[in-house]
Amino acid sequence: MAHTPSNNPTSRSADSLTRRKLLKAGLAAGAMGACASAPFAWTSRANGLALPGKLKTKRVVLVLFAGGVRTRETLGMPDNVPVLSQMATEGVTYDRARTSNLGHFGAALSIFTGISEARGIRENARGPDPTLFEYLRKDLQLPASDVWISTSGGVQQTNYSHSMHRDYGADFGANVLDGDGIFNREFREILASYGKPKQWADEERKLLAKLRSDLAGAEENKERAKAVATVERYVMEELTRGTADLRGINSGDAKALRVARNLLSIFRPRLLSVVLQQADVAHGSFNSYVEVIRKNDAALGELMQVVRGDPELADSTSVIVLPEFGRDRDLNSRRGLDHGDGSDDLNFVSIVCWGPDFRSGQSVTDAVRTIDVCPTVCELLGSKAGMARGQRLPRLFS
Ligand SMILES: [Zn+2]
Repeated sequence: MAHTPSNNPTSRSADSLTRRKLLKAGLAAGAMGACASAPFAWTSRANGLALPGKLKTKRVVLVLFAGGVRTRETLGMPDNVPVLSQMATEGVTYDRARTSNLGHFGAALSIFTGISEARGIRENARGPDPTLFEYLRKDLQLPASDVWISTSGGVQQTNYSHSMHRDYGADFGANVLDGDGIFNREFREILASYGKPKQWADEERKLLAKLRSDLAGAEENKERAKAVATVERYVMEELTRGTADLRGINSGDAKALRVARNLLSIFRPRLLSVVLQQADVAHGSFNSYVEVIRKNDAALGELMQVVRGDPELADSTSVIVLPEFGRDRDLNSRRGLDHGDGSDDLNFVSIVCWGPDFRSGQSVTDAVRTIDVCPTVCELLGSKAGMARGQRLPRLFS
């Protein structure tokens, strides 16, 4: 499989690199103790075929290319999605993945829980079933900095981060960040703990001191508070770097993907999920829908550049891309596309799996389900989605 790093020179300025160094140093220091640095252990599963004994995958990027997107406009028209098409030719594609058609929110949540709720899931509320974020954080004892969701949809989508399940829940939730830099309370707490100078080694202290001296008006007697604020500000600036310039029909989705790209560079999380949604403009305009798809594919390309361009990431990162469901077969009276006709265009989507352990250039025609993604991701990372009803995707491994 072609996981060779690209030769693209980095465009980051020296200033940015210094900031990155500081962040990495600070974050590493903050994560000390909490971080699950234990060797990555594998157990084969009794259900289905055993997983390969030793996987290269250490992190997963799960992109919900959502908002209702048909295969017809993606892999069916490779010119719309050159990045995704390239990933498909290098990885495994499932062309007949049955969706859980519960509305955008419920269908996306089903991918995270591995359960298609028959009665549907109420919009704007947390679900009852544990998410893959919770399985992973609990089973693998991952710190919060290892599990993230970058969303396009604002407040409602923070409900993806964890369930109301009594054995899981908030303690094991993902960090949620949207393209405008709004983040949840848990994230603030993480930043605060990273910023505590006490926990920092000498080298990091020096870096921070230098940074602080660069700031006009820094007062020594406010040193501690300043340090926390400084780290927080730099982290936020890094995470949202470049998002302010993003304009246009897919700006929310593009920001979510940009934040995801930055997250990958800075935190190198074990699980990073991105939830897009603006393809849903299709209700009113087919042409705008195609434009969103094309632009989101290009933004996905920027994220993939980070993965491919970093030898460590390229060798250890698996990327899975799928929409939550498709769209109707025929145009509506506004020359748009709704979702509700029960057609195969709506009920089946394509899942693209790209990564160092997967087969290359394979198309699997077996019937699978979008809820199979949750157990697949959990098992890839050494956990098990105990309550999920989906199963690990078949014929995935090389
Ligand atoms: Zn819709």
